[in-house]
Amino acid sequence: MAHVIRPQPGILEIELYKGGDSHVAGVRDAIKLSSNENPYGPSDRAVEAFRRAAHSLHRYPSSDHARLREAIGATFDLDPARIICGAGSDEIISALCHAYAGPGDEVVHTEHGFLMYRIAAYGAGATPVEAPEHERAVDVDAILSACNERTRLVFLANPANPTGTMIKPSEIERLAERMPPQALLVLDGAYAEFAEGYDGGAGLVAARQNVVMTRTFSKIFGLGGLRVGWAFGPGEVIDVLNRLRGPFNLSTAQQEAAEAAVGDGEHLERCRSENARLRVWLAQALTEIGVACDESMANFVLARFESPQEAAACDAHLREQGLIVRRTDSYKLPHCLRITVGDEPSCRRVAHAIAQFRGRR
Ligand SMILES: *Cc1c(COP(=O)(O)O)cnc(C)c1O
Repeated sequence: MAHVIRPQPGILEIELYKGGDSHVAGVRDAIKLSSNENPYGPSDRAVEAFRRAAHSLHRYPSSDHARLREAIGATFDLDPARIICGAGSDEIISALCHAYAGPGDEVVHTEHGFLMYRIAAYGAGATPVEAPEHERAVDVDAILSACNERTRLVFLANPANPTGTMIKPSEIERLAERMPPQALLVLDGAYAEFAEGYDGGAGLVAARQNVVMTRTFSKIFGLGGLRVGWAFGPGEVIDVLNRLRGPFNLSTAQQEAAEAAVGDGEHLERCRSENARLRVWLAQALTEIGVACDESMANFVLARFESPQEAAACDAHLREQGLIVRRTDSYKLPHCLRITVGDEPSCRRVAHAIAQFRGRR
């Protein structure tokens, strides 16, 4: 009999996610500024906790993540009962799509938004819908225009990746107010800690029934390799996600390292202030070279070139110098390069190399 084995609808629409490169052929010790990683690494306490966890590898991990949720709740002043933890916020983004959207439903994301929203929507059999942005900033009216009776989820990163731009809390509130009644607003706060004084939307989540906030240990906590993310949401939403979640989705090492990391406020503060200082420095250096960039509230800057060709040529020049940045063609920004704010020597090197590139044209 002929086999007719097919995946669920939507799966073959998914374009494989490509992470930032980490190697350049022929270059040793390349500087990786392509994945918005923390150049200072994680807290020593997290590394120590990870090592300690080696002694209990024969034991199943906690399935309710109680201690980690307590620690997150204490640091961010949130009710631990309304927190859920996942293997990166990626897992939570996928779970939200599986829980709330299916065939015939729509998932709205913004024009230059994070690629995972489309992937997760297709993975659930739903249809991703793109809302235009205005000059690389999220446009609430465009999102509202993209919503209809089929909309189940709206994904929004604030600060956004790869643009680094941010919209005002009052704009997010306006969006939350006007969302269709059957749709959930997901505020992706992967970079919230880098934006001084911003709560990632936690206050809005606490006050409403239709908003969820996702966060991650991958960025300011320097634990991208550990794979831990979390969300804070209405009790009903957290309950739904907990039903769907694998009971042992986080290993003991993941839980304990993340718990130690979130308790190290000193490390967090140091990373935040160094990033803020060098982000301004890098943007200024680029502007002086004649490369435009929007004000970034995250841990990267988006450098704008005159054409996709110029961006590609600059990328090639940087690679020759052992500097890896992120091309943003797949984010509909082919004339840009996203540069992670590294430590001071890396920032100086990348600015110098771009100046060299501009000078020799
Ligand atoms: C990096 C990033 C995340 C984090 O993903 P993890 O799965 O937690 O590593 C989420 N959203 C955006 C917009 C990001 O850039």
